[in-house]
Amino acid sequence: MNFEVSDKMKTIIGMIGEFVDRELIPMEQDFLSKPLKSLQPEIERKREMVKKMELWAPNHPKEYGGMGLDLVEHALVSEALGRSPLGHYVFGCQAPDAGNIEILNLFGTKEQKEKYLRPLVDGKIRSCFSMTEVDMPGSNPVMLETTAVKDGNDYVINGQKWYSSSADGSEFAIVMAVTNPEAQPYLRASMIIVPTNTPGFNLVRNISVMGHAGEGYFSHAEILYQSCRVPQTNLLGPEGHGFVIAQERLGPGRIHHCMRWIGICNRVFDLMCSRAVQREISAGKTLATKQIIQSWIAESAAEIQSARLMVLHAAWMIEKVGASAARKEISLIKFMVAGIMQKVIDRALQVHGGLGMTDDTIISFFFRHERAARIYDGADEVHKISVAKRILKEYETKKVK
Ligand SMILES: Cc1cc2nc3c(=O)[nH]c(=O)nc-3n(C[C@H](O)[C@H](O)[C@H](O)COP(=O)(O)OP(=O)(O)OC[C@H]3O[C@@H](n4cnc5c(N)ncnc54)[C@H](O)[C@@H]3O)c2cc1C
Repeated sequence: MNFEVSDKMKTIIGMIGEFVDRELIPMEQDFLSKPLKSLQPEIERKREMVKKMELWAPNHPKEYGGMGLDLVEHALVSEALGRSPLGHYVFGCQAPDAGNIEILNLFGTKEQKEKYLRPLVDGKIRSCFSMTEVDMPGSNPVMLETTAVKDGNDYVINGQKWYSSSADGSEFAIVMAVTNPEAQPYLRASMIIVPTNTPGFNLVRNISVMGHAGEGYFSHAEILYQSCRVPQTNLLGPEGHGFVIAQERLGPGRIHHCMRWIGICNRVFDLMCSRAVQREISAGKTLATKQIIQSWIAESAAEIQSARLMVLHAAWMIEKVGASAARKEISLIKFMVAGIMQKVIDRALQVHGGLGMTDDTIISFFFRHERAARIYDGADEVHKISVAKRILKEYETKKVK
């Protein structure tokens, strides 16, 4: 077993760490207090700097302008970028574009790749992924109601979606819709590329989430598809293979998210420890002298370290045996890391007292924003049930003495 990080990755991570500290963390007060639109020119300047440093789109294919890092390498990058909410976006590897890039690269036609994939990797346009519906359980996506019906050379899409993250300002959506209602449940839906300027693509609102509707990249939209007509050539991959393609998207995506969450844990852990050694709580005694705080720090350190190793191991498994054979490992990290992050952020907030509740530190943003980690990409309970079923199945045939 080799835990060593290659020289190449040490250099890349070092450069990213410096950039995040020097260029992105100082932007956070503005990020927390001003409209995103007013920061966009500055964000674009930072993106240009990243391109000049040749660190743009670390996980995306080389032939489209990315660095082509493998999954374990990008996991380390994602951790380094996770320290700032702007990290992934400024380096051109943000969700949901990252997942859309992956499936366009795997399943897109030559024309789709030129029209959508190339400018997406280049950061010239953004996209969203439109699967979850208002009235149907996202946890059981075979129950989709949105339909795409063939008419001449087109598909006509009707349905109501929400939580289409970053739809505001996106050039296109990849929409999951039922095309084959008579097929078996997992072969009923297809993925279809829908330009957002298509008549019948109606962005109803950016949903207010924990008090913030957000805007642009940092938002989640409700979208009404009303007789939204696109050519059949916009089908991504084979018809009825929407769920097969979705599986491809979710394995690596969970590694990216989990390592981003570890980056968040590292950041708030730093803030917690730094506050603990500075905050005098009685004459000559800081918070750091209190055993209960020491216990939180030790527990957080152990949890972050164990979560980090689990995610790197899962990434390594996906590289070795593929996402399907690593399903257990992927489910384990998904609920485990989301839960650890929530605990660590909460402890960091508590150590900061009233300051932790304000937007004078980044902790409250992470507290609010990252609660969703236990819901999207499969709720905790869904992953736990799936892991437990897999484990228990082994015991149906295993003789235990
Ligand atoms: C911030 C955020 C961003 C998102 N981004 C996107 C996006 O870009 N595109 C997109 O299409 N969707 C997105 N989603 C939607 C997300 O994928 C769904 O919210 C998720 O799949 C859960 O579906 P649901 O909300 O319909 O909850 P439901 O399916 O109604 O489940 C509700 C709760 O029930 C419990 N539960 C579910 N199934 C079981 C079970 N079998 N046994 C026991 N308990 C269970 C879980 O606790 C779950 O949280 C996003 C969601 C959030 C919060």
